[in-house]
Amino acid sequence: GANRAKNVLILMSDTGGGHRASAEAIKDAFRIEFGDDYRVFVKDLCKDHAGWPLNNMENSYKFMVKHVQLWKVAFHGTSPRWVHNFYLAALASFYAKKVEAGLKKYKPDIIISVHPLMQHIPLWVLKWQGLQNRVVFTTVITDLNTCHPTWFHPNVNRCYCPSEEVAKRAALDDLQPSQIRVFGLPIRPSFCRAVLVKDDLRKELELDPELPAVLLMGGGEGMGPVKKTAKALGDVLFDKELGKPIGQLVVICGRNKTLSSSLQDLEWKMPIKIRGFETQMEKWMGACECIITKAGPGTIAEALIRGLPIILNDFIPGQEVGNVPYVVDNGAGVFSKSPKETAALVAHWFGPGKEEHKRMSENALKLAQPEAVFDIVRDIHELSQLQGVKAQISSSLTSSFFISSPDI
Ligand code: UDP
Repeated sequence: GANRAKNVLILMSDTGGGHRASAEAIKDAFRIEFGDDYRVFVKDLCKDHAGWPLNNMENSYKFMVKHVQLWKVAFHGTSPRWVHNFYLAALASFYAKKVEAGLKKYKPDIIISVHPLMQHIPLWVLKWQGLQNRVVFTTVITDLNTCHPTWFHPNVNRCYCPSEEVAKRAALDDLQPSQIRVFGLPIRPSFCRAVLVKDDLRKELELDPELPAVLLMGGGEGMGPVKKTAKALGDVLFDKELGKPIGQLVVICGRNKTLSSSLQDLEWKMPIKIRGFETQMEKWMGACECIITKAGPGTIAEALIRGLPIILNDFIPGQEVGNVPYVVDNGAGVFSKSPKETAALVAHWFGPGKEEHKRMSENALKLAQPEAVFDIVRDIHELSQLQGVKAQISSSLTSSFFISSPDI
């Protein structure tokens, strides 16, 4: 019936990248916008399979042999770069099985992929099961600029690009304008809808109420030159002549326990908070004046929403490279690998460089897209309603065919 709750299956993989954060953001936004109309399941296609495929070669091989014809049809010509060796083929067959199981279990009306390697195989499985016209398939890209071509697949209903740069790449890779939408990177609703007052946050988080604060982090895993940068900040944020601090530091180490304990062991002359994995990043960001981080798309998009100028001090080669010019060219921050230079810039912003800091903060807010996640789920909702109408028309055509052909 028309009132049945629809099932949404989000395909992700927790292998670095803000894929989980994006998946959770989309799930939350569905609930806020549409309540019980959608049931959203997040499936991690890599989970519980450490060591794979070597420990699972036999099964993968059997599966592949069984479906080898379909396999050839699916990949030949459309994407030869995909199956150029056995390992990749085995990997693909492994995913295909997981996708198949996911389809059976969740019976999705809508599939959302938030992973660069999860378009080809799910779409292939849908086709193979004759479901390609019944399931809405969308991709939500989570890289801000340079992204891998496997993100783009011509058979998706929609491809959500976080920036115009990514949309251009999608168009070059043969996606039609009707398939491309640019809303921004999906960020947790708790982040974009929060009404936050800096003074209150500082009280709640037990920060100094007056001193300007810099937030230092390195993604969920606490990566990059965090310790060296903290030390350099320790030097510049203490005014030796006046004998008092000119700023305070918040270090969020994420899951990097070694980092947090080694920072705890040091002595600091300015107020400092050293934290592990925090679940309310919007509050910490809302309490600070600027942020130093590696070029993770999630952290960048969140900092932009809070209007924080960003000092990027590292990036993961490949997928995060393009995030650097995205921030720098738009005047929302700078790139520096040098902890000393980074610390000096923070001190500058907290002193004579106030105006520059303010300009960058304004640029950050201009670039921010806090509504992106809601725009995305509303668009998916429209797609799914259209699909529903199409399905009704086709089923009424089928039934009238049966009525007028009683001999069958
Ligand atoms: N994050 C968090 N708590 C922490 C550290 C990080 O919630 O203690 C979140 C952060 O707000 C962001 C995500 O983890 O949403 C990190 O994603 P990003 O794309 O920046 O980098 P990744 O860690 O995925 O490489």
